[in-house]
Amino acid sequence: MSIPAPRRVADPGTLVEKLVSLSKRRGFIFPSSEIYGGINAIYDFGPLGVALKRNIRQLWWRHMVELRHDVVGLESSIIMHPRVWEASGHVAGFTDPLVECKNCHQRFRQDHLEGVCPNCGSKEFSEPRQFNLMFKTFLGPVEDSAAQVYLRPETAQGMFVQFQNILGGTRKRIPFGIAQQGRSFRNEISPGNYIFRLREFEQQEMEFFVKPGTDDEWLEYWKQARFDWYVALGVRPDKLRLRAHGPDELAHYAKAAFDVEYEFPFGWQELEGIANRTDFDLRQHSQYSGKDLSYFDEETKEHYLPYVIEPAMGVDRALFTLMIDAYDEEEVRGETRVVLHFHPSVAPIQVAVLPLSKNEQLLPMSREVEELLRPQFRVEYDETQSIGRRYRRHDEIGTPYAVTIDFESLKDRTVTIRDRDSMDQVRVGISELAAALAGKLEDSGGA
Ligand code: ATP
Repeated sequence: MSIPAPRRVADPGTLVEKLVSLSKRRGFIFPSSEIYGGINAIYDFGPLGVALKRNIRQLWWRHMVELRHDVVGLESSIIMHPRVWEASGHVAGFTDPLVECKNCHQRFRQDHLEGVCPNCGSKEFSEPRQFNLMFKTFLGPVEDSAAQVYLRPETAQGMFVQFQNILGGTRKRIPFGIAQQGRSFRNEISPGNYIFRLREFEQQEMEFFVKPGTDDEWLEYWKQARFDWYVALGVRPDKLRLRAHGPDELAHYAKAAFDVEYEFPFGWQELEGIANRTDFDLRQHSQYSGKDLSYFDEETKEHYLPYVIEPAMGVDRALFTLMIDAYDEEEVRGETRVVLHFHPSVAPIQVAVLPLSKNEQLLPMSREVEELLRPQFRVEYDETQSIGRRYRRHDEIGTPYAVTIDFESLKDRTVTIRDRDSMDQVRVGISELAAALAGKLEDSGGA
C-alpha cells in the first residue's frame, strides 16, 4: 500500500527550534551539565547523537584514509608544546575583534555585528580589542607563565610537527596526506545557533603534502572531492555550494581557499574549508624548532618544503547539517508526520525490529529476527506502545526500514519491511530478510 506523501519543507524560521526539541526528546543532543543550568556552547551527545557522529567519523575515515593509497592516519595530543602555537601564528594572530555594548555591557565579535547591539539595540560600542581564542591552562603544579599551555584550537598542527616521523616510518612519497580526527577548543566570543559554533568541538582535517607547482591542481581536486562527499552522504546538492575566499578574507597562511557552504536557516555558512596553506607551516616549524622539515625527492635529488592542501571540517557542524537537511514535515491522512530522511549510511538505526504488539506469542520470533539482523545492521528492538506510535518514532529519528512481526509471521515465517520514505510495506520470508535489507541499503548507497 502506497500513501502519497508530498514532501513539504518545514518553515525555516522555526526549524532550528524544532530540531533542538526533537534532539533532546529523542536523545540526540543535550546541553552539557544540564542539571546545573548548562554551560554555554558546549553540548553532550545522547545515544542517537553518538551513533550519528560515529557514522560521520567512520565514513570520513573510510573515504579519506582506508580507501586511499596515499593518506595515512595520526592521533596527536590535545596539549602540545606551547612553541607550536607561536610558530603557527596562533599566539599572535588567532584573535577576533571583541567589542562591548556601552549600554548593556554584553560582548560581541565586531565582525558579526550588524551595526546595532543584538541584545538591546544600542549603536554605541567600545573600541575593539583583539581577543585570543585559545583556552589556556597550566602543565604541572606551578601556575606561572613558564608552565602555560593551550588546548589546541585545530588538529592540523599535529600533522606538521610529526611530518618527519611519519615520512620516516611509512616511507610515503609525495604527494601524500596525513589525516586526523579529534577535539579542538576555541573560546568563541559569540557562539550560537545551537551546535553550529561551539567552544568544544570535533574536527576532521587532512594535510595533503604536494610538490610546489602542483598545488593549484590539488586544490581543485580536493575541493571537488569534498563537495561530492557531502552529496554522497545525502545532503541536497541545491543546498550546497563552493565559495572562493576573496583576497581580504584569506588566512595569513593561505594562498587560496574555498568553503563548502550549506544554506542553513540562518543563511549560507561554512561547513568545511579547503585551503592551500603553501609551505607556511613546515617553514615556520623548521625555523622555530631548528629541525629540518624539508622533503628529499629521490628522483630529482632535490630538497624542498612541500606545499599543503588542507580540507578541514567540523563533525558537529556536519551532524547539524545532516539533521537540518533531513528534517521534513508531511501531511499524512490529515496528520503531520515528522521525518528525518537520513541517508541509510548515516542513520543512527538502520532497521527497527517491531513485534506488532506485546502479545507473548510474537516475542520469540521477534527476538529471533533481532538476533539475525544485529550482526549486519544497526538494529533497535522495540515492543513498547502501539505500532503506529513506534513507526512515528522511527520516522522521527530517521530509521530507513522497520521490520514488523505479526500473526501471519507465525504461520508462514514472513515479515513486513516498511520503507520510511514511501511508507510502502512488502512481505518477505525471514530466510530472505537479511539479503533483502542489504539489497535495499546497497541500492540507496547506504550499505
Ligand atoms: P570561523 O571563521 O567561522 O570562526 P574558521 O574559518 O576559523 O571559522 P576553520 O579554522 O577553517 O574555521 O575550521 C575548520 C572547520 O572546523 C569549520 O569549517 C567548521 O566545520 C569547524 N569549526 C570551526 N570552528 C568551530 C566551532 N567553533 N564550532 C564548531 N565547529 C567549528
